[in-house]
Amino acid sequence: SSAPSGKHITILHTNDMHARAVASSPEMGFAKVKGIFNQYRSQNPDTLTLDAGDAVHGTPFATLVRGESVVKVMNEMGYDAMVPGNHEFNYGWNRLVELSQMLKFPMLSSNVKKSDGTDLFKPYTIKEVDGVKIGIIGFSTPETSYKTSPKNVEGLTFTDPAVEAKKIVDELKGKADVIVAVGHLGEDKSSIDTSLKLVKEVPGIDVFIDGHSHTVLEHGLNADNNTLIASAGEYTKYVGVVDLWVDGGKVVKKEAKLVDEKAAADIKPDEKVASLVASIQKEQEPILKEKVGETPVKLEGSRELARTSETNLGDLLADAMRDVSQSDLAMTNGGGIRASIEAGTITKGDIVTVLPFGNQIVQLKVTGEDIVAALENGVSDYPESKGGFPQVSGVSFKIDKSKPKGSRVHSVMVGGKALDPKATYTLATNDFMSIGGDQYTMFSKYSQAGMYGALDEALISYIQKGGNVPAEPQGRITEG
Ligand code: ATP
Ligand code: ZN
Repeated sequence: SSAPSGKHITILHTNDMHARAVASSPEMGFAKVKGIFNQYRSQNPDTLTLDAGDAVHGTPFATLVRGESVVKVMNEMGYDAMVPGNHEFNYGWNRLVELSQMLKFPMLSSNVKKSDGTDLFKPYTIKEVDGVKIGIIGFSTPETSYKTSPKNVEGLTFTDPAVEAKKIVDELKGKADVIVAVGHLGEDKSSIDTSLKLVKEVPGIDVFIDGHSHTVLEHGLNADNNTLIASAGEYTKYVGVVDLWVDGGKVVKKEAKLVDEKAAADIKPDEKVASLVASIQKEQEPILKEKVGETPVKLEGSRELARTSETNLGDLLADAMRDVSQSDLAMTNGGGIRASIEAGTITKGDIVTVLPFGNQIVQLKVTGEDIVAALENGVSDYPESKGGFPQVSGVSFKIDKSKPKGSRVHSVMVGGKALDPKATYTLATNDFMSIGGDQYTMFSKYSQAGMYGALDEALISYIQKGGNVPAEPQGRITEG
């Protein structure tokens, strides 16, 4: 067949990078990703570069400076636009607005509204590339409203992306030749508002650059209404490349592919990005390398175990929370524990990797009845995985998994005595759970009886002062 007619435009895209700054095979890191951008930009100057969200959070490189490091690197990489994913909200939406103001390119989202009904970000932008007008619309996952701490999205509403899409696609008719969506919606069946659903309901979108489900689409996906959906996996393992040919104000041909480590073997990492990343790391190194203590055994925090069972790291963290707040008991969600710590030296870097959310310790005065309700909520999916699985201190209980949800917790002991449903106990938990995160809705009616600083700081001081680092789970949560 002959070469396609019309103007050739290339869209380069990334998603779900989760602050993977440096190469760690098969993750390519930011410098290599920029090297791939350089290569494609030199082949075709008519290039757009988009990121589909979850970029500024996920490793200490980002969390130590609440996202600013990644913003600096992305500015150097030269994006044209990005959409905020759910994890962009992890430092609170005010911080996200600050970060968006540091960006040299727009943060686009059409379905995040402030309490007065106005948009938090610019909904779309129009870019002219080689005389072709390209409308770019952003969509954020409505799941953000319950997947991050409620206080991070306080006062915000995530509206139906398809409803916003309909309005904007209409508005762009006559103003843009090509319509590109950049969304953090996902193609996953576990999400409701997927990109698949959106493009089915809203004709007129030429290309949908997607993220959130971490999906690897080798050659995109030809979805309803002739929309090409493209998604480049996760963690800088891939760069997406979409080629468009536009003739007479219309897309006449489109193709998608992915470039991975192997395909990019001969492409050099970008030197400027490499040295920027290195200089940020050098600044952070002394903080991260700081020794906190030692552990003779691995402290278990993997998602498989911390979300299904008591672990030694869960015990240690809950002990630290109870100790600093002098509470009767402590409960913290297994899903908030994001990594394990290997045997040997424990560094500050290890601790912030385990606890990247910047959660605070909150004390509540809670009835025995609500403690049982909270434990029931935590183990409702047991033995299946649940972010809200409780890691506890000062309390022990048994799970009878043959019983239905809501009545499987029994033999609850607090401070070595049987729990009294009518008594009031002091409970240390984290700010996420205290306002109803992970379905701990029974806590949200209580006002905070005290605040005791950050979880990571409490864990550090507890280890430093010689608190017991348990070799194995302490038998607080058992089946029976
Ligand atoms: P992805 O990286 O694919 O977007 P995700 O982080 O949205 O994934 P999970 O990795 O399953 O999804 O994490 C969700 C869990 O993380 C929640 O159930 C909760 O346990 C925990 N979590 C999320 N935000 C917070 C927070 N601010 N504080 C404490 N725990 C949190
Ligand atoms: Zn993600």
